[in-house]
Amino acid sequence: RTGVLVVGAGEAGVRVAASLRELGHDEPILLLGDEPHPPYQRPPLSKAFLDGTTDHDTLALRTPDFFREARIEVRTGRPVADLEIDDSGAGSARCAGGDTVAFDHLVLATGARARTLPIGGADLDGVCTLRSLHDAETLRARLARAHRVVVLGAGYIGLEAAAVASARGLDTTVVERENRLLSRVSAAPLSEFLLDRHRAWGVRFELDTEVREIVGDSGRVQAVKLADGRELPADLVVVGVGAVPGTELAEKLGLEVRRGIVVDTAGRTSHRGVFAAGDCTVLPHPHLSDELLGVESVQNANDQARAVAAAVAGVAPPPPAVPWFWSDQRDLKLQIAGISSGHDSYVVRSSSSGNDVTVLYYREGALIASESVNRPKDFMAVKRALGKDRTIPPTAAADPDTLLKDLII
Ligand code: FAD
Repeated sequence: RTGVLVVGAGEAGVRVAASLRELGHDEPILLLGDEPHPPYQRPPLSKAFLDGTTDHDTLALRTPDFFREARIEVRTGRPVADLEIDDSGAGSARCAGGDTVAFDHLVLATGARARTLPIGGADLDGVCTLRSLHDAETLRARLARAHRVVVLGAGYIGLEAAAVASARGLDTTVVERENRLLSRVSAAPLSEFLLDRHRAWGVRFELDTEVREIVGDSGRVQAVKLADGRELPADLVVVGVGAVPGTELAEKLGLEVRRGIVVDTAGRTSHRGVFAAGDCTVLPHPHLSDELLGVESVQNANDQARAVAAAVAGVAPPPPAVPWFWSDQRDLKLQIAGISSGHDSYVVRSSSSGNDVTVLYYREGALIASESVNRPKDFMAVKRALGKDRTIPPTAAADPDTLLKDLII
């Protein structure tokens, strides 16, 4: 029997366990993860690991010594297939291999999996998604042999993969259904900026374009067929069309699921005794009442996990955190502070060099978020302002030479 069972040994799961120990929680903690590897970081998988500048040894989330000294048991290769709980949230878990574990507290940290495309040819050899270390190893090996790469989806993962492929000198095309890059999360100026930079690296874009099917020969990918009938030749296709939260166990337990597992700011699910954190969840939107938000970021996984640990340990919740995120694309360092959805206006700052940009987002005149490329001071200033519930007046912010930190009011 364990005190706390965490299902999913990723960013959120590991942080729940580590935070419980930091809070002095003394009960046994068990992490069950379905992947064969010890817990690892995902962000490098589409960046330094993919381009070969870092390797496996830098990916570990924590050392084996850390887990041993903290008395956190991690079992890998153990997909949890079924859960039973009572009214208090205590219960038992059954792994796919048949072993069962009884627990007092349950935390779901099952993350998300890569969305696949429901089109013909999606399972051809040479069509890759990028979520796990296994995916990244496969893609890295294939990039080394590829000539023509087609990336489906101009979100962060698609753009990072395109940046790596183009840096290797590969013929790279990105196909995107919407008419601009990062349309789900960013305003047009950032989309335009990234489009220009990727084009300067030689990446081609097919925007406003649907994919009809992936065409193969003898089981190997050969081309991507577009809705207008054109075919883009490809020996490697990277599908970067988003992630699907891992909600199956929550659904079996009858927890409220709306795209992700619905949680409150303490990470409580609709069952008061069951907690969830990370990419498998949706949480109250900070600006839009009635809306729920899925935030797929390392920061969110960690901060939700800290809140869950506090609730399980029965101590005061940590103060609310400012959401932040980053993406690296060759020499571009994108940094995001806050949540921009729900904005009603924005201000753009960029220097005359054209190598940087910041978009500041406002709602009813108040600063709610920013996205910066190669302007780390802007990012830091906005993060600080949001953390103190302060703002930066939009008119003054438009001057790219004024330091934002001096404008915080
Ligand atoms: P995960 O890290 O996905 O961990 C969940 C784990 O649970 C997985 O190992 C999963 O296999 C396991 N699991 C699922 N179901 C079961 C089950 N039934 N039984 C046992 N185990 C189970 N974020 C950033 O902030 N910046 C970045 O630059 C960035 N880059 C990224 C690049 C890539 C390629 C990817 C994939 C993600 C990136 N992210 C980035 C997002 C970030 O990695 C995630 O938000 C974070 O990993 C979420 O942590 P998590 O613990 O919720 O989920």
